[in-house]
Amino acid sequence: MAEENISAIATAPGKGGVAIIRISGTNPLAIAEKMFTPLSKTEVCNFQPYRMYAGNIDAGSFTDFGLCVYFKAPASYTGEDIVEFHCHGGETVARGILKQTFRLGARSATRGEFTKRAFLNGKLSLASAEGVADMINGESEAEVKAGYLLYNEKLTKQVRALQDEMTTMLAGIDVSVDYPEEDIEEQHVEELKVELLRLLDKLNAMLSGYETGKKIKSGVTVAICGKPNTGKSSLLNKLLGYDKAIVSNIAGTTRDAVEGMIEINGTKFNIYDTAGVRESGDAIENIGIERAEAIIRSADVAVFVADYATGTDEEDARVLAMLTDKPLIKVFNKIDLSSDTTDTDADVHTSAVTGSGIMRLKELLYEKGFGSRSEDLAFLIEQRHFDALVRAKEAVENAVRACGIEPLDLIGIDVKEAWDCLGEITGETATETIIEEIFAKFCVGK
Ligand code: GDP
Repeated sequence: MAEENISAIATAPGKGGVAIIRISGTNPLAIAEKMFTPLSKTEVCNFQPYRMYAGNIDAGSFTDFGLCVYFKAPASYTGEDIVEFHCHGGETVARGILKQTFRLGARSATRGEFTKRAFLNGKLSLASAEGVADMINGESEAEVKAGYLLYNEKLTKQVRALQDEMTTMLAGIDVSVDYPEEDIEEQHVEELKVELLRLLDKLNAMLSGYETGKKIKSGVTVAICGKPNTGKSSLLNKLLGYDKAIVSNIAGTTRDAVEGMIEINGTKFNIYDTAGVRESGDAIENIGIERAEAIIRSADVAVFVADYATGTDEEDARVLAMLTDKPLIKVFNKIDLSSDTTDTDADVHTSAVTGSGIMRLKELLYEKGFGSRSEDLAFLIEQRHFDALVRAKEAVENAVRACGIEPLDLIGIDVKEAWDCLGEITGETATETIIEEIFAKFCVGK
């Protein structure tokens, strides 16, 4: 599809070794030929695609020495002709070259417009484009890996396979509706029901991957709980490797939940140091306590911290009683103040002062928070995809219920509904609003 030339800086803002200015559209080569002079002058008449040329880039008011490469449509990221200038990484240099592309007829690309063009030109599915965004925005290795799987069309391939099955079913329904013979229709409905139930199993299997996917995308939530002064803030700081929470020996210092993020084995963990959960006359502290309780309720794992030096009492037991409904790690802290670790039922003994036991605590966090999930299959990480799959599943369930009760063409409507829901993932049935929303999340230049 021939489109006007769009241009943007593809690299991140700021100073860097190299910056890339990318132009895509009808004829970016015409712009390149006006701005770029290769070292060997003969090459300009014969600009070969997929080859890097070294030479001078004319920005109008100044010249930079850099590289130029041309990707020929349709074998390019956008499916259109693309030219890239690789210049020195100063913001002024890159902006000057970008402006020159505008003077020569390109217009500024909008957010995600290169990837949107790739999608519109059939180079990738909508889910794959979202995978690109997940990789760019990924805060952990696991998110980058999942984004790559999505980008690599893992989800789209599975979704398209289900859509193909539905298309076959719909064709069968059409034939039966066009040539109705009662006994044949009855047999057909029975077979259809078996196929629909098989489809339901597949949808359920895919949906079950979202538990892992959600943890990869949003991170595993950990609530550090315990009565005041047991060393929760100190432990958070030790886990993070820097001082985030205020540490003080005045009980009730942590008035609100303090959050920090760490990566354990490539997975993101959001760790909250909750306010010491206790009765308090202080109104502000009480608000903190309420928030802490909300965090504890929504956490994937709770870390219960007790002071090993003073031992546990009723207040510890009261905190512990709040944590019965989720994976729990019992930590006995301040082990540096005593050497006897034999008579406790702690999962790990730590010292936030010496760092002893912190590695083991991280291992336990990973085991209890993420477990032995297979990251390789975790590409259902987007809520949007999950919601579309749930709606597809509901439509298939309606079709199953309709078997033997409703006429075949009505069952067909449910199957078509399921097909359309899946099409929102791949992009076939996604509305313009959905598409706009997805690409608005991208940066300019991608
Ligand atoms: P929180 O109220 O549970 O968050 O406890 P803090 O982290 O604020 O710590 C309370 C006091 O205990 C501070 O004086 C810390 O320096 C001290 N503390 C925390 N962890 C340890 C530890 O492992 N060993 C020792 N000796 N002191 C600690």
